[in-house]
Amino acid sequence: MDNWNIETKLIQCGYQPKSGEPRVVPITQSTTYKYDTCAEVAALFDLESVGHMYSRISNPTVSAFEEKMTALENGVTAVATASGQTASMLSILNVCSSGQSFIATSNLYGGTANLFTHTMKNFGVEVIYVDQNASLEELLSHVKENTRAIFAESLANPAMDVLDFDKFSKFAKTAGIPLIVDNTFPTPFLCNPIDLGAHIVVHSSTKYIDGHATSVGGVIIDGGKFDWNKYSEKFPGLTTPDKSYHGLIYTEAFGNMAYGIKVRTQLIRDTGAYMSPMNAFLSNNGLETLHLRMERHCKNAQKIAEFLATNDKISWIKYPGLAGDENYNAAKKYLKGCSGVFTFGVKGGAEAGEKFMNALNIFAIVVHVADLRSSVLHPASMTHRQLDEQEQLAAGVTPDLIRMSVGLENADDLIADIEQALAQI
Ligand SMILES: *Cc1c(COP(=O)(O)O)cnc(C)c1O
Repeated sequence: MDNWNIETKLIQCGYQPKSGEPRVVPITQSTTYKYDTCAEVAALFDLESVGHMYSRISNPTVSAFEEKMTALENGVTAVATASGQTASMLSILNVCSSGQSFIATSNLYGGTANLFTHTMKNFGVEVIYVDQNASLEELLSHVKENTRAIFAESLANPAMDVLDFDKFSKFAKTAGIPLIVDNTFPTPFLCNPIDLGAHIVVHSSTKYIDGHATSVGGVIIDGGKFDWNKYSEKFPGLTTPDKSYHGLIYTEAFGNMAYGIKVRTQLIRDTGAYMSPMNAFLSNNGLETLHLRMERHCKNAQKIAEFLATNDKISWIKYPGLAGDENYNAAKKYLKGCSGVFTFGVKGGAEAGEKFMNALNIFAIVVHVADLRSSVLHPASMTHRQLDEQEQLAAGVTPDLIRMSVGLENADDLIADIEQALAQI
């Protein structure tokens, strides 16, 4: 299975039915699981045996999705979460506690920025924002004694910046802390951060993974490559006894799966922010066609971005697939495609942009992205509304920025829709 190509993994991994079992992964809509003896359940509680005990912590349908995600990202284990936000939050809290800090790039998705700037601060966890274009020296100068992780997006939403993986993996290695990469926009089909030096990958599966706009969800994949024992003094939660499991030590008991197992057995156990079986079923359904959909999303977006780039009503456009885009070379180096999302401004600024958006027929105004239906959104007044202007600019959100998410309709129909809407401004 390890040497299967990704198209095969997308369809075959995570669930292999035995003779007479359902062909499709069943939705196990059960909170709990029946055992014959007390000893069996006790062993589960002590993490001495593997099995499902309670659906706040694990569930067979969710496990199938997790196993597939592990295979797709070339990781060692994965945990599915209630949302992408949960995945980002727990990925940090698993290594960073009150009184400690982590580094994040400033061009993050608005929801993540809110979570990091305000809610995590209330937990006593400090975020230090850095410009992802800063030199390695400058990046390193932000690391403090209490810094425990680096968080970045492989393809930033909506800034459409491509992460310089070479620089950031060196950054993490030199600082002796894990690199956590949000790989939501590329999906495992267009980018595999673990192969590029990341240690942990998170996704909002709500986006292209589901792809049909049915299920909010997230996932954390442990790459199994960070040497927690080498930096034991920084990560006692992984390398010293856990009192809530009679003194179990994660790195001793689970080797290179320590981080991922700890997310589940501590943070998911305690918060219950786990994916539901129904959402796992739908997200897994989405994965089965991810390769086909991503190819077409990229192709449609490329065609429409090229159309807009030469249109005289457009003041600027940002899509790493366009020759001349500041991220073009990085995209060529690190991504197999640039996804179906790009941003642009129309001449006349935010006001003209609003008119344009209202005039669209196929592209719908929705707070969503990466769906097979084309959509459009104005981040400054929507997803990034809670950020002040300075924070918005740092996130790459100018007042006139329109984020377009190109779906799987016919590209010529989409262009015709854009043309008639542009004619109305
Ligand atoms: C949407 C999104 C999130 C948050 O995911 P939810 O599933 O909405 O909680 C995180 N990161 C990126 C890049 C996103 O686009």
